[in-house]
Amino acid sequence: MAKKIYKIIVFGPQGSGKGTQAELIEKEYGIPAISTGNLFRIALSKGSKWGKEAKKYMDKGELVPDEVTNNLIAERLKETDCQGGFILDGYPRNIDQLGLIEKLVEPTHVFNIKISDEEAIKRLQGRLSCSCGMVYHNVYNPPKNEMRCDECGGELYVRADDVPEAIKNRLKIYHEQTEPLLSFYREKGVLHEINGERSIEEVWQDVRNILEKF
Ligand code: AMP
Repeated sequence: MAKKIYKIIVFGPQGSGKGTQAELIEKEYGIPAISTGNLFRIALSKGSKWGKEAKKYMDKGELVPDEVTNNLIAERLKETDCQGGFILDGYPRNIDQLGLIEKLVEPTHVFNIKISDEEAIKRLQGRLSCSCGMVYHNVYNPPKNEMRCDECGGELYVRADDVPEAIKNRLKIYHEQTEPLLSFYREKGVLHEINGERSIEEVWQDVRNILEKF
């Protein structure tokens, strides 16, 4: 039997846990989770010029210009590890980006992890991040050792955009520019709406059940 090739896009407001679910899919199915936000943060930590350029937008909670982001994704999807499938986390986020991804990818599954703005704010305000891509929450999902990543042992930090003003901006952009893209995938019949206001494990059970049916 031919191997199934999962081409997955995960949508959801900031704090919905879409990154966590993308990581779980990566582990279970052995396909790379591609987070544009993480790619930008890695570029920045390496001191690259365009990483520093992206930081100006990220810190304010604004979208990095499409030219930069589209280029980044087009290049990443050409890499060999993506040829057997992938998960996109945080891309596309506006109509221009949808235009590019439409040319490159016919997704097999699109997930919308839904949470209210109140819940998003509550979660983001306690979020702890690791440069390896793992995320924790100081109340809902604390690391085993204080301020240390369970996976890589790295020191956890609070993201510059996990502060009230940037959070407000990010949610506004999500509702205005990203959410409207969902109707496109709904019409294609590949959209799965998931209640994200539950435990990581419960959300994962739903996601996994859907993927297992493929
Ligand atoms: P995230 O980690 O997904 O919350 O992304 C963090 C930040 O990276 C966003 O607030 C944007 O500034 C930038 N970013 C991530 N993905 C995109 C994208 N698809 N288009 C533009 N900017 C993005």
